[in-house]
Amino acid sequence: MLEIFRPAQYLNSIYEIDFEGLKRSGIEAVILDLDETLLPRELLHITPALFSFIEGIKDKGLKICLISNSLYPERVEYVARTLKLPYLTLAAKPLPFAFNRALRELKTTAGKCVVVGDQLFMDILGGNLAGMRTILVKPMSRETFWLRIFMRRAERWVLRKLGLLS
Ligand SMILES: [Mg+2]
Repeated sequence: MLEIFRPAQYLNSIYEIDFEGLKRSGIEAVILDLDETLLPRELLHITPALFSFIEGIKDKGLKICLISNSLYPERVEYVARTLKLPYLTLAAKPLPFAFNRALRELKTTAGKCVVVGDQLFMDILGGNLAGMRTILVKPMSRETFWLRIFMRRAERWVLRKLGLLS
């Protein structure tokens, strides 16, 4: 039953993703989470490394869409516009609506899409339910809010059950 949470890959950060390999295996589009995946939740500083990361994906001919559950749509909009990416805010991941809208935006199918995110119960569950490939990355900063701390504990429990964490 926990298999629905299993990501195809579990990596330290977005910078470890092999987009060349993904492209070779038929991936056409990348759905990216924002908070704790591309940027720490509290920061808006878009680094040169993040710029070249995004440009690197575009250069490989892969399409990108940003999907965020953030309660601050202006933040998502600012990042997406700066990086020149289409985006969906208040996405309510893991529900399927935003993933389906992203597929229309990206003009592709679920089987040719990879979801990259730091949250098992939002990004990975949502992507898996939508029939997409999923890559889990470690969150960029430590959580300070009790509810998120609890959620990270629950995530680690599932990852251990899946044999992805010792
Ligand atoms: Mg996130």
